[in-house]
Amino acid sequence: MSALLKLAAAVSVIALSPTAVATASAQELSVIASFSIIADLAKNVGGDRVKITTLVGPGGDAHVYEPKPADAVAVAGADVVLVNGLEFEGFLERLVEASGTTAPIVELTSGSEILSSAEEEHHEGGEEGHQEGAEEEHADEEDEDHGAFDPHAWQSVRNAEVYVDNIAVAFCSADAAGCDTYKANAEAYGEQLIALDAEIRAAVAQIPEERRTIITSHDAFGYFEHEYGVDFVAPEGVSTESEASAADIAALIEQVRADKASAIFVESITNSRLIEQIASETGLTVGGELYSDALSSEGGPAVTYIDMMRHNITTIKAAILRS
Ligand code: ZN
Repeated sequence: MSALLKLAAAVSVIALSPTAVATASAQELSVIASFSIIADLAKNVGGDRVKITTLVGPGGDAHVYEPKPADAVAVAGADVVLVNGLEFEGFLERLVEASGTTAPIVELTSGSEILSSAEEEHHEGGEEGHQEGAEEEHADEEDEDHGAFDPHAWQSVRNAEVYVDNIAVAFCSADAAGCDTYKANAEAYGEQLIALDAEIRAAVAQIPEERRTIITSHDAFGYFEHEYGVDFVAPEGVSTESEASAADIAALIEQVRADKASAIFVESITNSRLIEQIASETGLTVGGELYSDALSSEGGPAVTYIDMMRHNITTIKAAILRS
């Protein structure tokens, strides 16, 4: 039985069960967040008017997530489904189809500043130049796995502000009675994001410009780079789906030597072995763990979006300045 059929079967079984329907509160808006970062933004906008179910939880990797039958059940019963879009959630189309949901699927990147996935590429021949939205002529196997756009838009706080506005609009349209609350919450949280954005800029300003090149596992920080002026180099592309080839790694090590990268970091969602190998071959010390695509679980340093962004810039700055 295919995964899709299994999901569809699970939905139809549960749909016949009256208890599943009875658990949903009449007052709360039932919201699906595709991954942990969106769940946190949604919680800040929805407060206690919404009940949020997160598909890919803290520490999870949405690029390679395999939905469970319970996910299809949750999506089937949702009032609103919040997703990133730009092919970040590779599982989404299949899951939505299998669930048979009639809820709006809201792409939170809509209206934010979107970068093409080629725009921030570092370790491949750049002679062809970059054509926004166009397929690369000599795309390698890695590039066939993801779309033309870099999905990690939340790594720019200005884009996160757009996500928050989109969430408020979605909640207002699903629950008009709560609209004033959603708007007020979004406004108050938006103020915190504006302060966070300023804090990151101030921290980057304290790092000498010639020392702002660093290494991470996968190309998840293109928006951070574009917005705040820290250069990220990574052996893996914008998806974690395919592993870096030996040639990618060799090219990266060459580039590290040429660019004099100041620091290297592991990412919470990826295996640290490759980064440790590059660190040992380049003589760099691993400067800590960055959170790119998921929050940390309770007790970790990145329990909320704001904590995550603050942890990342603090870790980056500290590692560069002590190197
Ligand atoms: Zn990613």
